[in-house]
Amino acid sequence: MRLSQGYWQTLKETPSDADVISQQLMMRAGLMYKTGAGLYTIQPMAFRSLKKIEKIIREELDRINCFEIQMPVMTPAELWQESGRWDAMGGQMLKMKDRAERELCMSPTNEETVTDLFRRTVSSYKQLPVCLYQINTKFRDEIRPRFGLMRAREFCMKDGYSFHIDKASLDKFYDEIYVAYENIFKRLGLDFIAVEADGGAMAGGGAKTHEFQVVADNGEDYVVTVPRTKFAANIEKAMTVRKNLPLAPATELTKFATPGQKTCDEVCAAHGMPITQSLKSLVMHTLNNGKEQFFMVMLLGDDSLNEVKFQNKVSAEHVRPAQQAELDRLGLVKGFMGPTTEAQGFKVIFDEAIDMNSSYVVGANEADHHIKGFVPSRDTKPKNFRADMRMAKEGDFIGDDQIVLKKGIEVGHIFQLGDKYTKSMKVTVLNETGKAVTPIMGCYGIGVTRVLASAIEQNNDKDGIVWPASIAPYDVYLCYIGKTPEIKEVAESLFKELRAAGLEVLFDDRQLGPGMMFKDADLIGLPVRVVIGEKDFNASGEIEVKLRRSGETMKFQKADVVNNVKKKLEEMGKWL
Ligand code: ATP
Ligand code: MG
Repeated sequence: MRLSQGYWQTLKETPSDADVISQQLMMRAGLMYKTGAGLYTIQPMAFRSLKKIEKIIREELDRINCFEIQMPVMTPAELWQESGRWDAMGGQMLKMKDRAERELCMSPTNEETVTDLFRRTVSSYKQLPVCLYQINTKFRDEIRPRFGLMRAREFCMKDGYSFHIDKASLDKFYDEIYVAYENIFKRLGLDFIAVEADGGAMAGGGAKTHEFQVVADNGEDYVVTVPRTKFAANIEKAMTVRKNLPLAPATELTKFATPGQKTCDEVCAAHGMPITQSLKSLVMHTLNNGKEQFFMVMLLGDDSLNEVKFQNKVSAEHVRPAQQAELDRLGLVKGFMGPTTEAQGFKVIFDEAIDMNSSYVVGANEADHHIKGFVPSRDTKPKNFRADMRMAKEGDFIGDDQIVLKKGIEVGHIFQLGDKYTKSMKVTVLNETGKAVTPIMGCYGIGVTRVLASAIEQNNDKDGIVWPASIAPYDVYLCYIGKTPEIKEVAESLFKELRAAGLEVLFDDRQLGPGMMFKDADLIGLPVRVVIGEKDFNASGEIEVKLRRSGETMKFQKADVVNNVKKKLEEMGKWL
């Protein structure tokens, strides 16, 4: 592409509403334009990169015999009503009516659509297993769209769905797609980890699920890792323990005044006690099959609740903290709640980090009062139980190893769904003996536009983007310094040669000063910059080749430029 005839605008200033580096660089480098909240127009440079990302995904999926389809973005309410998700999806699903008053939504995902397609087109085990995928627009009315393409409302996702006659077939395919995902993210040039994730109570026991996380400081997810054993799990899934906590021996229950001291921190600070000798009481509301229940979750004073673990433990469809009116109804006093109350209507769960025979401070369930000397095994009612409820944190152990917490951006997710959709949507196929059975499913997502943003989030420096070679918009930034027709001719001929060798070249023929050109070259961050400087070229016939990532600068005779550029691109992983 010749920049003199191109469409590319860069910004000098960093836009004030861009919160993370990838978003700032994408706006500054003219990769995207903000059309509305969480809605972005992909500009030509970014469009080229997106197509490369898609191509890598397609190649790896096609290699394991997946088939690409395209489902409609608008899907009818009936399908979602069948699976029960028309209501369950909540506010993130954007619903509307057509002129005939039929209800539709902008698809946030497509399990229902593909399951419906499957049941109308596949009838025998002989047609299984099969995996269908698409690379298509999704819409989710996220509460807090942010970080540009990282959490947008409209975004591009690769979503794949596989169907199997039994668990053995699903397991086999799961392993294949796991490897395909590893290949995809390697080829994309990303530093990623595959982490065990939480399958949720609904997916049933033994359902595997992994997230592919790009390691980045601005990630919204926490990953628990153990470097020695290569263990990696999503924080919601990781089972870790605390060690070496100072314990207090059992003493008598004693009520004491804690005026205005509503948190464990405040109580412990005011009375000179270690925070781990206090317990916080969180009251949660759960809903299952329309049935309401309340739980009081007890945690060490400096721990926090892992809602996913809680939800799995109590097998609920929805969980949330109890509201004030509900606490009133249960006879609980906010800020001073505790498990010693005679109040009925909830079960108490003790987190496993709590020592059941030591004494702790808990709320007295009376305004401005707490109780010390509370010993869980002695002072609670028989209905209570223990479970791992806490959020893992720095300092925890798995076995003898201390964990390392990392921040990640979830770019992909693979998931064994079981019969969740095939059962609710009444799908059957005939098995070998001619019996109608319910097939099971897996689903496999990649956030295509999120991949683009996270590639930039992970690969940049103070001057701009540093593209992984496989997904850079172009391979080479070619420019020349000098005004004579002769030097322009040299550049024109090199432009031709590089392109003839199959390379993608951004030819800066705008005749700007070198300062401006180099600034733009660094900002857009193509892997290789080739500069023909009139003085050097006339003196020695040398042309400069500079690598964006390492900063390495080389000089070549014109005849050697193309081969050396190719060699460097290969080393940088362009053709992985
Ligand atoms: P998150 O926890 O980040 O909201 P999710 O669990 O809702 O993700 P999935 O439903 O598994 O995501 O979707 C598959 C992939 O789509 C995700 O791994 C992610 O890469 C991408 N994705 C999800 N939501 C968004 C969004 N709002 N903007 C951009 N990409 C997204
Ligand atoms: Mg989400």
